[in-house]
Amino acid sequence: KAKETSSCSYIIFDPQSSFEQDPHHNIEPELINAIRRNEFELFYQPRVDILSGKIIGAEGLIRWQHPQRGLIFPDMFIPTAERTGLIVPIGYWVIQQAGEDMQRLLASGLTIKSLSINLSFRQFQDSYLCRTIQRLIEKYAIDTSVLEFELTESALFNNELHVREGIEELHKLGINFSLDDFGTGYSSFSLLQKLPIGSLKIDRSFVSGVNNNPDDREIVKALIRLAYSLNKEIIAEGVETLQQLNFLASFGCHQAQGYLYSKPVPFAEFKDLLQNGYQLTAENAANQ
Ligand code: C2E
Ligand code: MG
Ligand code: MG
Ligand code: MG
Repeated sequence: KAKETSSCSYIIFDPQSSFEQDPHHNIEPELINAIRRNEFELFYQPRVDILSGKIIGAEGLIRWQHPQRGLIFPDMFIPTAERTGLIVPIGYWVIQQAGEDMQRLLASGLTIKSLSINLSFRQFQDSYLCRTIQRLIEKYAIDTSVLEFELTESALFNNELHVREGIEELHKLGINFSLDDFGTGYSSFSLLQKLPIGSLKIDRSFVSGVNNNPDDREIVKALIRLAYSLNKEIIAEGVETLQQLNFLASFGCHQAQGYLYSKPVPFAEFKDLLQNGYQLTAENAANQ
């Protein structure tokens, strides 16, 4: 946002604040440029098996390396991308980048069980979605049993038939699905059983409260139990402390993701974490 000083009338340009504070600042043209100039980066946050403490996968999270503004986080531009439809080309860039990175992992002799990517409801409005994804899978020889798409409750349960059809079609290619930010929206449990959703991700807002908020403890316990009865994998996001990890471990949560293990990092750093056999269990952390 441009600010005028009282003493003299030159304009101070504060790079970040125009994104954050000025609701009228239109970033659409800059987003179009970003796609053209390839300014995006895909970071990876490890997903850890709670029992073994080993990295078994990752979530790819987009970043925008803006030439003037620096690193921009997705909350600052994904909503605009969804509203304008630019999420469609951006989404393909993400899948293509993930494919390239997976090839590089394989070439280094490293494997992961899952690589998840966020898919927004808007991407299903592109009638070429399945065909394009299929083409990318072939181009990068992506193992579809490793690929997982994360969807939110609002995308899944908004009664849009084409979303469900898209999921079924992608599932036929062998792709897995998970429910992101679980617990923050509305879920239809009967539909959840019918759709090919393999795992549920407990939203960070509940995980952050398990050690001081009795309601959050009960919610997290209930979500874990629910996942067990629906026969789904259960993943906690936003795990930041050992106490949270202990709580989750004691109720049988399968996987965790969060700053306790690692922040989202550039591909090269994620590869290092994998290569070094990074391992953290509630037990060995307590003994450190
Ligand atoms: P999400 O899919 O729920 O991703 C988890 C977010 O929580 C990430 O934020 C991650 O950095 C953050 N996080 C993980 N562990 C911790 C923790 O221990 N503490 C805290 N405070 N935060 C943690 P990020 O990367 O800023 O992404 C925000 C959201 O933007 C994502 O939420 C997702 O909805 C969206 N997004 C990110 N990448 C993509 C993409 O490629 N495509 C689409 N459509 N959406 C994306
Ligand atoms: Mg996600
Ligand atoms: Mg989430
Ligand atoms: Mg989210």
